[in-house]
Amino acid sequence: MSKIILTGDRPTGRLHVGHYVGSLKRRVELQNSGKYEKIFIMIADAQALTDNADNPERVRQNIMEVALDYLSCGLDPEKSTILIQSQIPELTELSFYYMNLVTVSRLQRNPTVKSEIQMRNFEASIPVGFFTYPISQAADITAFKATTVPVGEDQLPMLEQTKEIVRKFNAVYGETLVEPEILLPDNKACLRLPGIDGKAKMSKSLGNCIYLSEEPADIKKKVMSMFTDPDHIRIEDPGKLEGNTVFTYLDAFSRPEHFEEFMPEYKNLDELKEHYTRGGLGDVKVKKFLNNVIQSELEPIRNRRKEYQKDISYVYEVLKAGTDKAREVAANTLSDVKNSMKINYFDSREWLEEQIEKFSK
Ligand code: ATP
Ligand code: MG
Repeated sequence: MSKIILTGDRPTGRLHVGHYVGSLKRRVELQNSGKYEKIFIMIADAQALTDNADNPERVRQNIMEVALDYLSCGLDPEKSTILIQSQIPELTELSFYYMNLVTVSRLQRNPTVKSEIQMRNFEASIPVGFFTYPISQAADITAFKATTVPVGEDQLPMLEQTKEIVRKFNAVYGETLVEPEILLPDNKACLRLPGIDGKAKMSKSLGNCIYLSEEPADIKKKVMSMFTDPDHIRIEDPGKLEGNTVFTYLDAFSRPEHFEEFMPEYKNLDELKEHYTRGGLGDVKVKKFLNNVIQSELEPIRNRRKEYQKDISYVYEVLKAGTDKAREVAANTLSDVKNSMKINYFDSREWLEEQIEKFSK
């Protein structure tokens, strides 16, 4: 079976370094590995509207921002199809049929949806669209017959939900849909990068992000203000690594060559950690190192973005061509689905002849 990737992002803001380590960087590696027959990258604007119904302008404006982030990180439209979700009505139609295969209590048990409801203060009045977005995500994944979904850990429950829908659909209507596998980051620190405030997840909605397109001075300000070990008061005090955001970021971003370049007195991160826990290493020094690491990672991305920003019409064409191509694929899957469900009354004479036969008796 050929290997196909589907993944994406909600256009609720520019992309941040959590996206980068959790999914984006991996996508580019997978794209360039040549091991995947097709790669679909979706800008999930319809999903973003499920919790931004009263702020459609936010979604509309951020589509281009996300597309620019994609291209500047190295997603190549020759190899990856970039699409806008809302422009593919087949996805909505698929969701509608999948809704019949999922119970309300199953959706209520989804831990990501639960925590997102809390985060958005939706407890008293959850929009139905938001509540059912895991089903629409199943439609997105299956529409492209994706085998592989490279995402952060917060997406695990969505993948579980999708697999259940696929199994149920295939069991009821016959083998039609492909069961996808999640592809999580290898590096533990990248599974769910915390915010600069130390909160569980860097998230556009929480405003605790370092954005990929952020200017150097702003990155520095954010890194220097980052959460560390609150008990590490004097330099000579032993420091704790657990829950120390600066070290989590170093786990996610630093490589041995960064030590060579910016901190040659240590060979690698293990040595730096050892000194910190022993005592005698100040937070400011570690933060300055982290700042250098992040700056060197983001500089080429920011520069490429500035180039693409000069040619927005090109980006528009990429989005349009990608969406057109993706729509054809989704339409084929929808046709398979309707065939399996036998709701394809006008595609052939089968249903008509069946009815004639029935009423002629
Ligand atoms: P929102 O707050 O609007 O939900 P978000 O910051 O959570 O935005 P999404 O667009 O929901 O971003 O997520 C896009 C992709 O990035 C998903 O694959 C998700 O798993 C991954 N991702 C998002 N935040 C992080 C993070 N902090 N660490 C690792 N991966 C992340
Ligand atoms: Mg999210």
